Amino acid sequence: MEATQSLLSIKGLSKNFGGVRALDGLDLEVRRNRIMGLIGPNGSGKTTFFNVVTGIYPASAGSVVLEGEDITSFSPQRVYRRGVARTFQRSRLLLPLSILDNITLGDHSRVNNGLMFNLFRRKALTREFERSLEKARELIGIFDPELASNIFDPVETLPMISRRRIEICRALIGHPKLLLLDEPSAGMTHDETFRLIDDILEIKEKIEDLTIIIIEHEMTVMERITDHCAVLNFGEKICEGSYQEVAGDPQVQEAYLGV
Ligand code: ADP
Repeated sequence: MEATQSLLSIKGLSKNFGGVRALDGLDLEVRRNRIMGLIGPNGSGKTTFFNVVTGIYPASAGSVVLEGEDITSFSPQRVYRRGVARTFQRSRLLLPLSILDNITLGDHSRVNNGLMFNLFRRKALTREFERSLEKARELIGIFDPELASNIFDPVETLPMISRRRIEICRALIGHPKLLLLDEPSAGMTHDETFRLIDDILEIKEKIEDLTIIIIEHEMTVMERITDHCAVLNFGEKICEGSYQEVAGDPQVQEAYLGV
């Protein structure tokens, strides 16, 4: 596939919560294989955008088209099956469970209702488990080989950066084409954040045909990681371009600094 092709096409997307217009006629094209940054002050609609794209909230108007297919009214499960996965600002890990369990919880393809599977359930389950274990080890190994060799350890003993890595692996285990990262630096130190950003860049190198949209308040992260940025304010796109272009835009400075 061409790197310049559009993967996600957003047209006139709006989302109202009562009188609040969280998204207001948003237009956005996300090209395949890019890392796109979504920038904007608090309350500008960034997380709502992720929630509408992933089917968590229905759109009030407009469309979300993924590889030519209109997915605007799809359920979260259908959106996931079409290849869109995400992480959340607040950790959703099940802390007493193992690294393996937490990663494979994201592998919805494991739910198998096939006749052959059920007839030979025991053998099939063992095969499924081995397949999941291998996939999870391979993914977490890209981030951190030590986590891969301690995959049966509970998550609760791990530092924040390891937990974030596990969350990203959970999102990646179903082989998405589009990964939505909602503030991966939340709750981490500056040093941890930059280690995680390097991890994400490495993952991007190793996984073919992966497009990422990232929401992040830490502007140095955006500068380092993104190929392209879009800036939202009051649910509208006010500017887009390279990080340098948007950071120098007077409208963006006004939205952030009120100057
Ligand atoms: P951001 O992620 O840019 O900080 P949000 O998408 O979280 O912004 O919020 C955009 C606007 O929508 C805010 O005014 C917020 O209060 C409102 N909003 C978001 N989710 C809800 C909800 N579930 N119910 C009511 N209002 C919401």
